[in-house]
Amino acid sequence: MPNIDSVNFTEECNRCLHCAKPRCKAACPVGNDIPLFLQLVAQGRKQDAVHLIGHPFGEVCGYVCPHEQQCQGGCVLSARKAAVAVGAVERAVFADNPYKLQRVGQLAKGRRIAVVGGGVAGLTFASKLYEQGAFVTIFERKKLLSTLWLIPDFRLPRQALKRIEEQAAGKFSVVEQNVDAAKLAELTKQFDVVFLSTGAQKLYTLGVKGEEFSTPFSVFLDSESEFRKKCVNFNGKKIVVIGGGNTAMDCARLAARKGSIVTVAYRRTRSDMPAFDKEAAAAQEEGVQFIYNVAPIAIEKQNSLVLTLAQTESEGRGKLIVTDQVRNMSCDVVVSALGSSFDNSIVDGCNGDIRHSFTNVYIGGDASGGKTVAEAVHDALTEAQKAIESFGR
Ligand code: SF4
Repeated sequence: MPNIDSVNFTEECNRCLHCAKPRCKAACPVGNDIPLFLQLVAQGRKQDAVHLIGHPFGEVCGYVCPHEQQCQGGCVLSARKAAVAVGAVERAVFADNPYKLQRVGQLAKGRRIAVVGGGVAGLTFASKLYEQGAFVTIFERKKLLSTLWLIPDFRLPRQALKRIEEQAAGKFSVVEQNVDAAKLAELTKQFDVVFLSTGAQKLYTLGVKGEEFSTPFSVFLDSESEFRKKCVNFNGKKIVVIGGGNTAMDCARLAARKGSIVTVAYRRTRSDMPAFDKEAAAAQEEGVQFIYNVAPIAIEKQNSLVLTLAQTESEGRGKLIVTDQVRNMSCDVVVSALGSSFDNSIVDGCNGDIRHSFTNVYIGGDASGGKTVAEAVHDALTEAQKAIESFGR
């Protein structure tokens, strides 16, 4: 990640060629008008640039998006010299000029909106409807943006999240409540629109003997959890992280930075790992070891933990064979970081598609498939537009 301080904004923004068909824009999951954004920043119109992006998560995207694979990867200048440092510009511009959440229109005036899940998609949808005059209630059983708060601060500074919370404060009613299928049906009657953005709450488990001796990534990363409170001294501890996604890299880097000896065990090859290249490279630079083509088959508790791993044979992200060849690893902590999925029980009884059962329900974020932050924002903006248009019918 380029150092924000090293970016001279005007100079950097003026490097943009304003291509007739901007590939940066095509490569951005949100479809941001990046050349215009850069032009506004170069002209000193930073608040206009922030509002051009049109949602509160620009700074977060600036930190967690894989720019090298998205906007910067698409930039024509990447082949000649270096891509315009869009991510660095985005981070700094939003930090100094937070997205101002305010009433700007009346297209949803007086409408009552329920948002189920206060994550990235939920808060984006809530913001767009609030801006158009709606009264928004967010149902969230944990805290707002709880998934983002799990991302370690070396990857996503706490201030970026606090700025979003400050803007959201007092704009929405927040109800701390779990919403099940029955409650969801009730909400569809009480509110004009319901946005379902519960995120991926169901953790994938290892499914092995001794699973209870492993620590779920959500507990490992949560600084408020009992595990983190007790495990204050990671220094010199041997930690094995099972998984190959960004969350696994977060766990590994967090432990490595606290002085642990960390190994990531992934069941396929390096090129198959779902983690962004920059996250895997950062983990490696910080001393994390990787072993590939291994799958956990048991965890035993002796003096320390003994993790048994079986060799696997894989074909890309497809076929996976677990062989009889096993090895044991002694360690202090096994972290299960296999990711999570949408909990389908909330849409039980809807014949597979909730939109067929309730015409006033919109869905976004992980609730409509595994998503990055930018993809969740894109979903929410698209669904918010549809909801707003529905009021005019
Ligand atoms: S591709 Fe690069 S040079 Fe072209 S408009 Fe986008 S940022 Fe500017």
